[in-house]
Amino acid sequence: MLSYPPTINNLIESFTKLPGIGRKTAERFVFYLLKRPKEELYKFSQDLAQLHESNYICPVCFNFSEAEGLCTICSNTNRNQAIICVVEESHDLNVIESTGEFNGLYHVLGGNIDPPEGITPDKLTIHQLTERIQKNNVQEIILALNPDIQGEGTIIHLKNVLQPLNIKITLLARGLPMGSDIEYADEVTLTNALKGRQELK
Ligand SMILES: [Zn+2]
Repeated sequence: MLSYPPTINNLIESFTKLPGIGRKTAERFVFYLLKRPKEELYKFSQDLAQLHESNYICPVCFNFSEAEGLCTICSNTNRNQAIICVVEESHDLNVIESTGEFNGLYHVLGGNIDPPEGITPDKLTIHQLTERIQKNNVQEIILALNPDIQGEGTIIHLKNVLQPLNIKITLLARGLPMGSDIEYADEVTLTNALKGRQELK
């Protein structure tokens, strides 16, 4: 491995923490940034630093919220409060929302159960989901998780946790290819997967 000054090495390390970014790409980013004007880099660093300060998380569904408190979806009383669509991340929520086909509420898990990566069920918002179901008159939970190994494992765990609560649990219809991400599904495929959802027994 080539050795760089610590400032460069630290930044390369930081970039490798991003999803899908290996060391080579991280190095490319850093050497690209080194050639950019100082003002541009300053703005970039400010944007990063402010990311945490000006983003709120909805205390109910864990989606991003524009202000402190409930997000616009949770606070919309026109939405069907009896159905909750469970997704891994906020961007999955946005993709489903963009189909315009779903009028219920959401719950953002914050990832998938993945023990080798240290993501055990307690690291996700599963406990908060069961509390939501028990406190409100929820009738159906749609598990809109990605069709990969971690997604399947998370579905099995959620099934065990949710079934004693006596609610209908449904899965998106097959149609999303195995290993593909919800975030890349087109609207027609996703709409069909939602409409054709099937009960998990
Ligand atoms: Zn919310």
